[in-house]
Amino acid sequence: MNWHLLPLSEIVQLLNTTPSGIDAVTASEHLREHGKNQIEDKKKKTILQMLLHQLLDFMILILITAAVISGILGDVTDAVIILAIVVINAFVGFIQEYRAEKAMEALKNMVANHARILREGKMIDTPASDLVPGDVVVLEAGNIIPADVRFFETHQVKVDESALTGESNNVEKNPEELSAGDYPLGDRANMGYKGTSITSGRALAYVVATGMNTELGNIAKMIQTDETTTPLQKRLTAFGKRLSVTILIICTVIFLIGWLRGESVLTMLITSISLAVAAIPEALPALVTIALAFGAKKLAKSNALIRKLPAVETLGSVTYICSDKTGTLTLNKMTVQEIFETSDTKYDAVFAESNMLLHIMALNNDVSKEENGKWLGDSTEVALVQYAFDKNLNRADLELKFPRIAELPFDSKRKCMTTIHQIENPAADQSTAIIVITKGAVDVLFDKLNVDQKSLIPEFELKVNEMAEKGYRVLGYAMKILPSLPENLDADEIETELTLIGFAGMIDPPREEARQAVTECKEAGIIPVMITGDHKLTAKAIAEKLGIISTDEDLVLTGPELTALTQIEFINIVEKVKVYARVNPEQKLRIINALQSKNHFVAMTGDGVNDAPALKNADIGIAMGINGTEVSKEASHMILLDDNFATIVVAIKHGRKIFDNILKFIKYIMTGNSGEIWAIFLAPFFGLPIPLLAIHILWINLVTDGLPGLALASEPSESNIMKRPPRNPKENIFSNGMAIHILWVGFLMGAVTIGMQAWAIHSANTHWQTMAFTVLCFSQLGHVIIIRSGTQSIFKIGFFSNKPMLGALTITIILQFTIIYTPFFNEVFKTQPLTIYELLLTLAASSIIFCSGEFEKWIKNRNK
Ligand code: ATP
Repeated sequence: MNWHLLPLSEIVQLLNTTPSGIDAVTASEHLREHGKNQIEDKKKKTILQMLLHQLLDFMILILITAAVISGILGDVTDAVIILAIVVINAFVGFIQEYRAEKAMEALKNMVANHARILREGKMIDTPASDLVPGDVVVLEAGNIIPADVRFFETHQVKVDESALTGESNNVEKNPEELSAGDYPLGDRANMGYKGTSITSGRALAYVVATGMNTELGNIAKMIQTDETTTPLQKRLTAFGKRLSVTILIICTVIFLIGWLRGESVLTMLITSISLAVAAIPEALPALVTIALAFGAKKLAKSNALIRKLPAVETLGSVTYICSDKTGTLTLNKMTVQEIFETSDTKYDAVFAESNMLLHIMALNNDVSKEENGKWLGDSTEVALVQYAFDKNLNRADLELKFPRIAELPFDSKRKCMTTIHQIENPAADQSTAIIVITKGAVDVLFDKLNVDQKSLIPEFELKVNEMAEKGYRVLGYAMKILPSLPENLDADEIETELTLIGFAGMIDPPREEARQAVTECKEAGIIPVMITGDHKLTAKAIAEKLGIISTDEDLVLTGPELTALTQIEFINIVEKVKVYARVNPEQKLRIINALQSKNHFVAMTGDGVNDAPALKNADIGIAMGINGTEVSKEASHMILLDDNFATIVVAIKHGRKIFDNILKFIKYIMTGNSGEIWAIFLAPFFGLPIPLLAIHILWINLVTDGLPGLALASEPSESNIMKRPPRNPKENIFSNGMAIHILWVGFLMGAVTIGMQAWAIHSANTHWQTMAFTVLCFSQLGHVIIIRSGTQSIFKIGFFSNKPMLGALTITIILQFTIIYTPFFNEVFKTQPLTIYELLLTLAASSIIFCSGEFEKWIKNRNK
């Protein structure tokens, strides 16, 4: 439908709507007819596809074929049990993949966009997915357009359509009907498209298309990117491929040796393939997704909402946190502490009473008053209007006498705002008809003063510095009188030739918890940096209170100083700068680039539309949940639901723990696999038969590896987690001794297993196979206990500090006893009940792994 060519009256008719929106009944009808306003994920697998994916694995297929052949040739029980285990394994794999998928979906839903719409004239906030054609959306700067819309009321609206058209310039929008013709998307000035964002102004618009019917829906297939694969998963997948080849070679060797030693071909085939199936850790990437997605769920409870899964993994690598000041490091609760009025008397006649500064404080203000008498709006604005109000200057009364006729809204780049008012009783010659009041950052105002006052600037600066050194945010007020409202409302023309009236100094106290979080950061090798639009001295005073600046070496750099530096000069000092004052959001990108070029891993906060590029380019872009615009949220990796700096540090701590536990899990699984391979590979070299049957291998893989391995995810964080430096994101996960551990502990497991086997065979014990099998199982359990901490002894962290682990160990032991001591399973698993003596022997042998693991930690700690 060519919505852009239709007159608004026709659109209203077609959509069965009105400028005040539709009613709930029509909305639900439209919802039924058009479906949810969602872009469908084409890549989503169905349940059947997920199940088949598990079963149609090449190795699994060969194993099934071999088991069926062996069943036909005679050993039916063996074949059935292998098939059963393979099916259970596939089912567990399916559940894991399904859970990973569901967890990802839940994550997506948590960060769903919201939209403000009118329904029967009332403004409501609703999930963007509930929008239907006919809805009226209320849009303002910072909003992402939630569906395809036709504007019917606009106020200086500009839209960034680069997501859709690739065009980087912002496009102006208006409600006018277009004359007939062919218009590419970028030229349809009366339309807004889903996924593009409003960069300035505000507007009302009719939703004309939703979900897959939008332009974004049309190209959705093209732009669906895979944002869910994390660096670790990529590395594991690549590593898994290489490992698979190695394991396949080892298994082929095992097969050939066994065959040459005279074992049956089929038995050797099944054993070696079972070993390959068990040892190739193909489920690892899915398990990592689960661990990360569940980690993300926990993080949400701590007020950190993860938008991109890799962030959970990379949080632990953050070396720099660059944080906005207002609201994140401070409470964003401003109160005016003192004001200072200049002695300029030029405009004394404008207001009847003498307190000129208070008058203009009340007039140049953008707050509204709620019914219950509370001010609503930016905290700076609230503080200023409240101060004037307390001194008996009420904005509402004043506005009757000096009505606002125009304004230049606050802009963090200009760092000031202007309101223009009509004077109630202008002079007869109309020379004093209009007041222009500008308020803003003092240094910005100084540049806008009239020539008479320029010479007084050093004097003003002394006063400002005195206030700023106390940590006050100082705003200046200036004004001028004009005969008429200028035609061109351009800031450069209007905000000139001003007369400074005075300053207001207000305080925004630092957050107590931020101070503690700063200390914690420093201990954890993370450098906190404050970025603010505020004055250098104000920023410095607050940074000192928070502990961000603690030595004389720590630098404060202002935006203009930064502009004057070349990138090389900046890179040379960037690690010393702890505070950036008077910076524009655009400069954040430069800060990130400089830090990254020094190999730092940067987390950066942001809330405005202009912060989006910095948030995207930071290693972890953090948006504000309460005061952040949608555009900034969309560009971020993580959202702080409470806008609080301390939450970033909590998230980093969680991130480090989650990553630690994933590494522990990998270490556990791989060491176990290495143990099985060593045992089966080494046995023939000592003239021993293969110690384990295929079903034993598959059992260990399913039960002994699976249950306790999963419980490692519940491991509490280690006590030194925030006392050690950040992890290098490029570091190989197998460095730091992991590969060596996997090899030597695996070797020890294999050696103990075949040692037990050799001893039993030597003593003519017919239970040798069950003993070897049990030794391997119990060795793994001993191993999982020591792996719970990489550095601390289990006697220090306590056996009972991970309850799910206790449960998993108990169940595994019960299951192992069941297959050893019940006649039915003895048949099935070809096991024999062990005597107490044999059981104690196996326990003693397997405890070697536990003891040597503890010994390894002791040696490591002693060397430290
Ligand atoms: P942050 O510390 O998070 O960067 P900020 O409030 O310092 O936040 P901006 O909101 O970009 O950053 O403000 C920049 C500067 O503009 C402030 O330091 C102040 O001098 C001035 N300013 C802030 N709010 C207003 C306002 N409502 N009217 C006029 N000037 C303002």
